[in-house]
Amino acid sequence: MKEYWDNQYHCVSHEDYTTVMAVPYDMYVSGYDSEAVSCLRLWKAECPSFDMNMFNKGDYQKALGQNIISQAITKVLYPNDNHAEGKSLRLRQQYFLCAASIGDIVDRHMRVYGTLDNLHEKVAIHINDTHPTLAIPELMRILLDDCGYSWDKAWHVVKNTFAYTNHTVMPEALEKWDCNLLKSVTPRIFSIIVEINERYCRDLWQRYEDEAKVSSMSIIANNQCKMATLCVHASHSVNGVAKIHSEIIKKETFANEYTDTPTKFKNVTNGIAYRRWLYQSNEGLTGLLREKIGDGFLKDASELSKLAVFKNDDEVLTRLADIKKQNKKTFAKYVKNEYGVVLNTDSIFDVQVKRLHEYKRQQLNALNIIADYNYLKENPNADFTPKTYIFAAKAAPGYYMAKQIIKLIWNISQELSKNKKLSEKLRVIFLEDYCVSLSEILMPAAEISEQISLAGTEASGTGNMKLMINGAITLGTMDGANVEIHEAVGDDNIIIFGMNVDEVNARKSSYNPSEIYNTNEVIKKAVDTLQYGINGQVFNEIATMLKTSDSYMTLGDFDSYRKAQAFASECYRDQRKWQQMSLMNIAGAGIFSADRAVNEYARDIWGLNK
Ligand SMILES: *Cc1c(COP(=O)(O)O)cnc(C)c1O
Repeated sequence: MKEYWDNQYHCVSHEDYTTVMAVPYDMYVSGYDSEAVSCLRLWKAECPSFDMNMFNKGDYQKALGQNIISQAITKVLYPNDNHAEGKSLRLRQQYFLCAASIGDIVDRHMRVYGTLDNLHEKVAIHINDTHPTLAIPELMRILLDDCGYSWDKAWHVVKNTFAYTNHTVMPEALEKWDCNLLKSVTPRIFSIIVEINERYCRDLWQRYEDEAKVSSMSIIANNQCKMATLCVHASHSVNGVAKIHSEIIKKETFANEYTDTPTKFKNVTNGIAYRRWLYQSNEGLTGLLREKIGDGFLKDASELSKLAVFKNDDEVLTRLADIKKQNKKTFAKYVKNEYGVVLNTDSIFDVQVKRLHEYKRQQLNALNIIADYNYLKENPNADFTPKTYIFAAKAAPGYYMAKQIIKLIWNISQELSKNKKLSEKLRVIFLEDYCVSLSEILMPAAEISEQISLAGTEASGTGNMKLMINGAITLGTMDGANVEIHEAVGDDNIIIFGMNVDEVNARKSSYNPSEIYNTNEVIKKAVDTLQYGINGQVFNEIATMLKTSDSYMTLGDFDSYRKAQAFASECYRDQRKWQQMSLMNIAGAGIFSADRAVNEYARDIWGLNK
């Protein structure tokens, strides 16, 4: 990159660059019963032209290589969940997609208005997590270098165009790019970020004269660029995705920024495409709803609340039970076909389906199943409400512990199926290839929705909403959107357990899992079982993790979780009560519609009138 001054204009030219072409692919998305069709523009990276010159000179490899390098940019999606990896290809992907989209937005705006002076009045750009952060310096680059704007004028446009949604508070997921990498891949973008930061820090210094504060708020620190910090500074709006998450952002993650610019911080609780999860996936329930509350709920999810008046209607409660039973049979048929496993449809279908991550605590669920197994081996004739635990989860390829936990769950399922008598009461199935299509047949069959993350770690969760609208009862911690599910259905229709965020924070510094292991018989026996072996496999790393670090306080919440599970079984034995709980969940699910969430974004953040 070369920089020079031409009269009063700062000029930048690149050298030794590679040109990559962005080819748009448009997907049209129609709304339900609406005139409007939205366009989702996707990009493919291609080599502008095959380098015949290079080819003729005999450098086939380099000529072909250019092509392959370009196309690699849009070949793979990094499969990490809540973990950021500073890979060069990933950075190229991010910049490629940002540059293509910003170029497109600017182009289209220019064709209509012939100026970018009013861009922020006509366009809203939403940064969905930090992955598209480079859109910020890219728009600055266009305004400064291509259009000759002054810094302040460009910054005014940028700041009023961008809004940012945070999706996680887990430190390892908050993207930080190495400055050397940024500088070598995107030199001009890097120099703009440096300038944004210098002006920001200068301003902070003038207002606070507090070195510690300025360095903690700095976008660049320790030769790394903190993308979330850049987003917060460059956006006119910052929001979390559930009430509790938005509070944590203000109190912890961006505490200094919140004190500095409090009005910027908002909440928009996530929602789901509920027609997919109800109308499209659960024909039986949709039919009952249409009959009892009319068709209005298909356009306006808040009308689901009309179902609540049927809380004591025996016909409706029986119909709900029949529909669930039928959906369980349909799901059991799928499992029989795919896995050759016969499920007991009279047992409780207890479902934990989500990406595999220690913070989501599939290991807590597994440990409780092991405790049940140990109990049933000693008390084979115990009165035990039959239970089928259904898991589905993918782990990131490099996440060793997550894969160990999958292996554990699978081996528990095999171990249980060896014991014919026991497996009538206790069964585990692990479904492969968890995806939306699988989810669509599973959600309608679910009775318990496991949402058991350590309080303060799950930003929102949306699986909880899909299960709720299908009548499953949440068994969960006061985390993410569970808090608002609890608010919507009341104490009687949700099973809450475990430490809340304040209790987690208070306990963190003195947390001692080995002490819990040594003093709690049931826990000790379950953890020891991991080391003796399950289905002939030992799980020493999981056992050691639980006894030593246990970063997500699995053992700390175990007792409370086990009691909650027993309580769920007790509730289930009263089928009328259970169906009432189920009904109240369906009736309360309306607020978790994505229609509601998008309307809030439009009204509170993008400044759109309906
Ligand atoms: C909804 C959904 C998720 C998110 O689930 P959480 O329980 O909120 O983590 C993940 N994967 C698939 C396929 C989903 O449909």
